[in-house]
Amino acid sequence: MTRPSRVVIDKQALQHNLQRVRELAPKSKIMAIVKADAYGHGLIRVAQTLHDADAFGVACLEEAEQLRAASIKNPIVLLEGPHKANDLSRIVELQLDIVIHNESQLQILEQANLDEPLQVWLKIDTGMHRLGFPVDKVNEALERLSNCSNVKPAPKLMTHFAVANDKNNPLTQQQLELFNQLSKNSEAEKTISNSAAIINYPETHVDWIRPGLMLYGVSPMKEGRADEHGLKPVMTLESELISIQQLSKNDTVGYGATWKCPEDMPVGVIAAGYGDGFPRHAKSGTPILVNDVRCSLIGRASMDMLTVDLRNQPEARIGDRVVLWGESLPIEEIAQYAETIPYELMCGVHKRLEFFEQD
Ligand SMILES: *Cc1c(COP(=O)(O)O)cnc(C)c1O
Repeated sequence: MTRPSRVVIDKQALQHNLQRVRELAPKSKIMAIVKADAYGHGLIRVAQTLHDADAFGVACLEEAEQLRAASIKNPIVLLEGPHKANDLSRIVELQLDIVIHNESQLQILEQANLDEPLQVWLKIDTGMHRLGFPVDKVNEALERLSNCSNVKPAPKLMTHFAVANDKNNPLTQQQLELFNQLSKNSEAEKTISNSAAIINYPETHVDWIRPGLMLYGVSPMKEGRADEHGLKPVMTLESELISIQQLSKNDTVGYGATWKCPEDMPVGVIAAGYGDGFPRHAKSGTPILVNDVRCSLIGRASMDMLTVDLRNQPEARIGDRVVLWGESLPIEEIAQYAETIPYELMCGVHKRLEFFEQD
């Protein structure tokens, strides 16, 4: 018998979300971000389902290799660019676009002797202070790129926001102003926004947008929910009850004996745990659907099992369906109970689980 825990990927929801992004930013081309195995959803499956995307954004060469090996022909942008000089010949073979974000990459590019010039995206650090050229080095970098025979004419320009999910933080406006100042006289194609900016800052919908999280049907806002933005969750993590106990008042449940029954009550055991990617730090009270009814996680998550308060589902039987997040149970809510973010939960779903696709 296979383990009853599984991940269901709703391909229609994925297509719906891409369409929703197009509605929100009708004038922009879409670079669909599929790094980290498409946020845990399966890189190839997602790229094939989103074949209409104008480009894909990946973090590393290995991800781009996988896409090309699966005959994905869309443009692919290597978001962290090349790390070493000998990455470049492979990049040319695979026909990738590259981000150049620092001096060392610029030198690698200048010193290479490539068969064909590459499309470059110059990344500008407008205030996130992670990747990108500092504002006062941008003009020099652009000049060097335009003099470099390994670079296709007209490098494109990009920047990335640190706090676009928080409308009250003035940093986003500052970053935007800096970027606009630097690029206002340039004819180059530009890209600024991630999911949060696509929703919160329509003025950032320039030539290209770079949605990630929202494509997977999750709200990028601090306290938001996907349905507020017309998005549908793509990933559902589900399992089954494998045991039910009738416990007595004051019985404790699970490792550490941290949870104590307030009364005589039924407790269910679910066949999934942190070994599958369910967060170990999820608090007692984290919602779990049993037969579509909201129940609560109790006690500590263990490696392969979770325990659930079945007082809302006293009729539940072994083999009944359990949803840990996804359809009808927003992953945003689970992330709050686990003091993390939906990104981390989705990326952490373990590859030992079986994945099922729903058309
Ligand atoms: C991951 C990433 C995105 C997508 O961010 P979301 O918040 O998931 O929309 C966009 N741009 C860059 C450079 C990224 O690294």
